[in-house]
Amino acid sequence: MERPSERIAALRGAIPEGVALLAVSKFHPAGAIEDAYEGGQRLFGESRVQELAVKARELPGDIRWHFIGHLQTNKVRQAVEWASVIESIDSLRLLRAVDAEARKAGKRVDVLLQVHVAREETKFGFLPEEMEAAAVEAAGMEGVRVTGVMGMASNTDDMERVRSDFRKIRGCFDALKAGVMSGREEFAVVSMGMSHDWREAVECGSTLVRIGSDIFGERV
Ligand SMILES: *Cc1c(COP(=O)(O)O)cnc(C)c1O
Repeated sequence: MERPSERIAALRGAIPEGVALLAVSKFHPAGAIEDAYEGGQRLFGESRVQELAVKARELPGDIRWHFIGHLQTNKVRQAVEWASVIESIDSLRLLRAVDAEARKAGKRVDVLLQVHVAREETKFGFLPEEMEAAAVEAAGMEGVRVTGVMGMASNTDDMERVRSDFRKIRGCFDALKAGVMSGREEFAVVSMGMSHDWREAVECGSTLVRIGSDIFGERV
């Protein structure tokens, strides 16, 4: 297995310019993150608040951490403390909790609205038809700033189905951008694509791919 920094260099060569690379370091040790960091990577993703807090405390302060996991409301305070972007806003209840904690901390947190288009029952997120109302509510909040959308495709080998899911996610972004989010320059992120499907995601208009196992190996 190549080192994380080598895998990232190879990926950077393959991912088009203008598409950001989030290195998903969940379940991998600080040493692996340090190797990636020394290779120039600054954007890392974590899916558990406790793990994020431990790593953020011990690793360099110029790392930007994206929180990408399902966030329970009792963990919001810590997520707001350490994450520069919370990508996984999947309910109004969570959106309101993040707004409240951010205001308490005197902050404004960048968030993505997670949209649910995949086939699996277990995945979290707003339905496409719920996204507009969520964006409207967020627009009135002082503690959050909506900078885009995040989504996942169905977990299937049927790449046509995967592309169709990604087109729906991109479609949600475009609809908001043309509607309630029009004129908001910060609304610019379409986070979609993982190790096995980032090429399709980029083809369908991703601006941020979230890659874990392709960089760090299988999670233990
Ligand atoms: C774990 C995770 C990823 C990375 O998945 P890989 O298949 O390891 O690349 C991306 N996005 C989310 C939301 C994740 O939880």
